[in-house]
Amino acid sequence: MPYDVIIGLEIHAELKTKSKMFCSCNNDAQGKAPNTTVCPICLAHPGTLPVPNKQAIEWTILIGLALNCKIRELSKFDRKNYFYPDLPKGYQISQYDLPIAYDGFLEVDDKPILITRVHLEEDTGKLIHPAGKKHSLVDYNRAGTPLVELVTEPVIRDTATAKKFAQNYQQILRFLNIANADMEKGEMRCEANISVQEKGKWKYANGQISPVGKYKLNPKVELKNINSFKYMEKAIDYEIKRQIKAIKDGEKLIQETRGWNNDKGVTFSQRTKETSADYRYFPEPDIPPLKITQKWVDEIKAHMNELPEKKIKRFKEEYLFGDREAEILASDLALADYTEKVIMELRSWVTATGDSWERQQRKLAKAAGNWLINELFKHLKAGGRPISKLKITPENFAEFICLVYQDKVNSSAAQTILAQMFKKGGDPTDIMAELGLEQLDDQAALEKIIAEVILKNQKQVAEYRAGKTNVLQFLVGQVMAATRGKANPKVMIELLKNLLK
Ligand code: ZN
Ligand code: MN
Repeated sequence: MPYDVIIGLEIHAELKTKSKMFCSCNNDAQGKAPNTTVCPICLAHPGTLPVPNKQAIEWTILIGLALNCKIRELSKFDRKNYFYPDLPKGYQISQYDLPIAYDGFLEVDDKPILITRVHLEEDTGKLIHPAGKKHSLVDYNRAGTPLVELVTEPVIRDTATAKKFAQNYQQILRFLNIANADMEKGEMRCEANISVQEKGKWKYANGQISPVGKYKLNPKVELKNINSFKYMEKAIDYEIKRQIKAIKDGEKLIQETRGWNNDKGVTFSQRTKETSADYRYFPEPDIPPLKITQKWVDEIKAHMNELPEKKIKRFKEEYLFGDREAEILASDLALADYTEKVIMELRSWVTATGDSWERQQRKLAKAAGNWLINELFKHLKAGGRPISKLKITPENFAEFICLVYQDKVNSSAAQTILAQMFKKGGDPTDIMAELGLEQLDDQAALEKIIAEVILKNQKQVAEYRAGKTNVLQFLVGQVMAATRGKANPKVMIELLKNLLK
């Protein structure tokens, strides 16, 4: 391709603080009636004054630290002026030239993606346009929710990297436990600035894309209102193709904001872009500048949660999980916490039996990893009950793994027990007893049943003895049926072969 793709991202994420950014209103409007979590401050009544939320400032510093940013000693808020019905003040309190965090990076596939800035602002309300009506409705519950905006340098060169960056950032926000960052719910919103330039005709230096020689840069398009990673990928891909085609066809591209129409699979023009001068930024006179001392930053840093990359590494070293297992189990905070609790339970079980954890750890971790990934992770991925509402406690999951590990149940019985646990919860040992699933490995009892099966299936036995060894599977099935699936397969097959001789 004779073209280079230049992508920069802007990502907004709502913080899940208890109260809003500048007032004491409840910041959780989930399931609440419109305009019920509001007050004169977030409705911008005359004479009210904003007071910044300390938690939101600390969490923005935390994000900055997690993204390897510098934290500014002196920061401030600014007014970004524009008129829109969902913005009660007629301006948004944001940050312009002195954002809290700046100059950071986040790695995607071991390559650092440079971050220009991370700043704190407030969210707007929501407009609702009822179908078939001539009026619109406005809900100010969201107005004043703390909103963190991250801006990257224009250093992303392909769609896959853009998507992974947004996904990694979402994961970090969740691991820090400061945002839900659910794109479908609008708690995280991604915008992509995209342009396409001829190879060798442009350069990137000091945060700027500039032309080489007499080349005229193609304008960039800002993609907005993308509410899932899947749409983000589709929209960016479409936009790259559209711009390249326009250049080839000699059409004029313009700087504009475009949205994504998922039904048609196309981007469409929404408006031509304002420049920052249109916003008439000026310092917010109602809030004094923020002094962020090194001591404060150090305190915040000391309490920072473990980040995904570090957790994956620790899962490999501490629990001896393989690469794939560690990546899956440590990639989600709730799943990682659950996994650690299961491992702790297994460890105390091993210690209680008088055995050494070091001796059993590798095998048990392998078994635990398999069950957690094949059953629990699969269940979550299929949209099953989330971990917070799961009926299986880590204690019971660990006990279940022990039952299997000790050969007390065979694999088909294990599946039955686990299915019951997913449905109703409960102690796996009790369920095993209740359903009569305890593995049958009593030699004498098994021999008696096998002898009956041999007697009843003389034709197949003769075939087996004549060398048609695949008949064995049939006979195994008969014994399993006779024991209602409870026979210990290892012991039973051994006995069966001996008796057939
Ligand atoms: Zn309020
Ligand atoms: Mn913003």
